[in-house]
Amino acid sequence: MTSFERLKAYAEQKLAQLEASGQRRSLTETAREAGGRAARAGRPVISFCDNDYLSLSHDPRVMQAAAEAALAYGAGSGGSRLITGNHPLNSALEARLADLKGTEGARVFGSGFLANLGTIPALVGKGDTIVMDELAHACMHGGARLSGAEVRLFRHNDVADAARQMRGAGGQVLLLTETVFSMDGDLAPLSELGALAEATGAWLMTDDAHGLGITKQDNPAQIQMGTLSKAVGGYGGYVCGPAPLMDLLTSRARSFVYTTGLPPSVLAAAIAALDIIQAEPERRAKASRHAALFCELMGLPAPESVIVPIIIGPEAEAMRVSAALLERGYLVTAIRPPTVPAGTARLRVTFATGHEEADIRAFAGALKDIMEQACAAIS
Ligand SMILES: *Cc1c(COP(=O)(O)O)cnc(C)c1O
Repeated sequence: MTSFERLKAYAEQKLAQLEASGQRRSLTETAREAGGRAARAGRPVISFCDNDYLSLSHDPRVMQAAAEAALAYGAGSGGSRLITGNHPLNSALEARLADLKGTEGARVFGSGFLANLGTIPALVGKGDTIVMDELAHACMHGGARLSGAEVRLFRHNDVADAARQMRGAGGQVLLLTETVFSMDGDLAPLSELGALAEATGAWLMTDDAHGLGITKQDNPAQIQMGTLSKAVGGYGGYVCGPAPLMDLLTSRARSFVYTTGLPPSVLAAAIAALDIIQAEPERRAKASRHAALFCELMGLPAPESVIVPIIIGPEAEAMRVSAALLERGYLVTAIRPPTVPAGTARLRVTFATGHEEADIRAFAGALKDIMEQACAAIS
């Protein structure tokens, strides 16, 4: 066999293993439109699973800002921010983010994933300890592993267990959590975790990917990262915190130093979106109303964010409910292990400003119908 043939055989064998364990993933073409609509493999659907919570990705003002910046400044930044990629829109965006978070400074990264991968190893290393919520996002786990620090997990949102994990921890302790958990939509006990950090000399770092623009929690974390690709509607990541830490990241975060700066259009879109988020709080209120209405219609507890998990359990069943929804024109992809713990395959339902109340009512009706049929089939 040639090297090329052996490579193909290797990939095919790995894919067969993934297929057998139900972990093979595949892509479906999806063209998103305004109002929570999309064309999924060509078929019109209403999406209840994207992270564009404030529907800003299709706001004409945001689209216009992106288009104008592309026409004025070019399609790409030409290099790392330390070389040619530091267009002035970067510092304008950083000033907006620091102002919004009430911090001394901010650093914009290529994405939220890159922000976590670069920031965590710039803060702690070998001999130090990371104490993180067991449900923290894959990129926090990735950054933690890259750092070389010892990683200890605490039970989800269990501050007493976090305190237990900190006992006997070596070196500097970095406490990591999300503000709004991506798959469950519940909130972290930030003030308790902040107090724990303060009492023990640990640093608290939070991932606000699903909170920015949506929730209004006080956040005592010294280090606050997040993304511009969810409620902000565009792309990119950021870290907010003390000014010298921002300067340290400029020199030491490898995912900042060795990667290309964001295109001017992306930066301009984020600034326009943040302006709208600050000027139009009713957008957040509308998305939250939709989540609350859905929970009421489904007989679920009131939601803490605009993410509502419908835990189904078996993967095959979650896939079946998702497929039945698609039949009726609703897009809610099933989320399966290893993204979520084994046995908790679910529909992760998200609500947006662009939906209308009638959409929510019709969707809840369809979901109830499908779930009742599923229950009848099992019993
Ligand atoms: C989506 C997400 C990220 C990654 O952000 P990107 O900008 O999409 O790379 C990080 N953390 C959490 C909790 C997320 O949900």
